[in-house]
Amino acid sequence: MITKGQKINDRYEIIRSIGEGGMANVYLARDIILDRNVAIKILRGDLAGDEKFVRRFQREALSASSLSHPNIVEMYDVGEDAGTYYIVMEYVEGMTLKQLLKKKGALSLSEAIDIMLQITDGIKEAHDSYIIHRDLKPQNILIQENGEIKITDFGIAMALNSTQLTQTNSVMGSVHYLPPEQASGKGATIKSDIYSMGILFYELLTGHIPFKGDNAVEIALKHMKSDIPSVREENESIPQSVENIILKATAKNPKNRYETAHDMHEDLLTCLNEDRLNEKKYVFPYPEHDGEEPKAPVIKEEVKEEKPISEDDSLIDDDETKNRWIWILASIFIFIVLILVAIFIIYPKVTEVPDIVIPNVAGMTVQKAEETLRNKGFEVAVKVEQVSDEKIAEGLIVKTSPAIGLKRKKGTEITLYESMGDTVYTIEDYTGRNYIEVKTILTTQYGLNVTIEKKDIDDDKEYSEEEIIGQDVKVGTRVAKGSKITLYIPKIVDEYPNFVEEEWTLEEIQNFCDEYGVVVTFVPKQTNEYPENTIISQSRAAKTTIVKGATLKIVYAVKYEENPDTNQDTNTNDNSNNNSSNNNNNSNN
Ligand code: ADP
Ligand code: MG
Repeated sequence: MITKGQKINDRYEIIRSIGEGGMANVYLARDIILDRNVAIKILRGDLAGDEKFVRRFQREALSASSLSHPNIVEMYDVGEDAGTYYIVMEYVEGMTLKQLLKKKGALSLSEAIDIMLQITDGIKEAHDSYIIHRDLKPQNILIQENGEIKITDFGIAMALNSTQLTQTNSVMGSVHYLPPEQASGKGATIKSDIYSMGILFYELLTGHIPFKGDNAVEIALKHMKSDIPSVREENESIPQSVENIILKATAKNPKNRYETAHDMHEDLLTCLNEDRLNEKKYVFPYPEHDGEEPKAPVIKEEVKEEKPISEDDSLIDDDETKNRWIWILASIFIFIVLILVAIFIIYPKVTEVPDIVIPNVAGMTVQKAEETLRNKGFEVAVKVEQVSDEKIAEGLIVKTSPAIGLKRKKGTEITLYESMGDTVYTIEDYTGRNYIEVKTILTTQYGLNVTIEKKDIDDDKEYSEEEIIGQDVKVGTRVAKGSKITLYIPKIVDEYPNFVEEEWTLEEIQNFCDEYGVVVTFVPKQTNEYPENTIISQSRAAKTTIVKGATLKIVYAVKYEENPDTNQDTNTNDNSNNNSSNNNNNSNN
């Protein structure tokens, strides 16, 4: 049993339990050498005797410690203290995505995309370092108050170049996020993580997992056989471009999935672009299920391979039947192509008046472009929209809508887009807006580097937690891709509760103070007026603001002694632990 105040390796002092998983318990602890809070993950006592688990546990630290990325929990230390195996890592203050989903249900589109962008970014880093996570699920992803994501639990992660590759393959993550190839007993690849990220995205957008069942086998079968339910059927405001990301990530056939986490990340970056919102539903280029007709080359290869081995006549017969079929299919195909040619090329030519090609006005000044287009017989939209372009200088035309090179009828109105050079964007006033939404727009659409910072409020207006109260770049500033902006959100401060009236226990107060970084001193007072351990007074009044590092004195009752030798005031300078032991001594006397 790990208890509060216990010291691991004389260095990490346990403060409280913060989480539990399949094979370990996680605690908040104080690293007394570096004087900072850390999370310490301790292998469950009943597993510490099992060499297999111990090795897996140590491998977790190894896998993750080679990674350094803002979206991956940082590893600090790993070790053993008298049979207790532990990993020390960065303490992430916040909650898991599971808890977030439980609290909020389905997330907004921009919030879900923001989270997925960070996850794909972190996983890309892991994959680049030849590490597959294999257990991506909301319980293993932490979110901080500022919206920053940290991936944790590389417990069953696998180094791709590891020699135990085949042995470790048998370890599977949660069945709810299980890629079909792993469900059917094949090994994990980086595409398995992509599948789990697709399921995760589904869950963030709908608030629930896609495949449910009474038991693990039933669920695994669904991952193998059932099509993923449509997120758009549940929420029609989700654009097809977003659903396509889920379809592509969760394809049953790994060949139909994204090649890399980076590709998925890039797709997430542009999925809300206006020109993509109504794109077509993703069509799988390869067969999704075993029963589906495989592509021609696959058949050929099989025949080629088998023929020399068995010179069975029936095989040759079979081959001829196949050839006949190929001819029939080819004829049908050619017939369809001819009909399509007739519909799309010949018919319009016969019936329609010829169109004019939109001339290439890219690189011209607005005036020149207008003139060129009018000469060709087009109307020109007065509205000139500015877009960023690194190659075409400011003020010159980048593109048109409809696009250059397309054919359009005389008199069609053409919109011109003027370049803003490499400045992508003009900073607006964001105060009062939701920071998650603004951050998503600025990062995904304009490639800005957005930092969120909490700031003390110096007026007594009421702000919401997610409301932007300031920004460090002036309104109207024109900025280039990659430039930095800090958005400030209010630091909503907490207040001291009324420990006395609310009848807190000493331990509860200690935990509370640990959480808020308040240094508490417990002062025993000998009295028979109150039952033992009653809180008599608090040095900081209820409803006053908590400041980190502040000191708080709590006076509590201990039994009155006939011969009170001890001077109570000497206790005041002791730290809390000594005080609680004093308390025990007193009450035992
Ligand atoms: P397991 O391998 O047993 O699943 P995890 O590493 O997933 O263990 O940790 C279990 C839980 O502990 C997580 O779901 C999370 O709530 C919490 N946790 C894990 N790591 C941290 C951390 N670095 N900071 C804060 N909480 C954490
Ligand atoms: Mg876990």
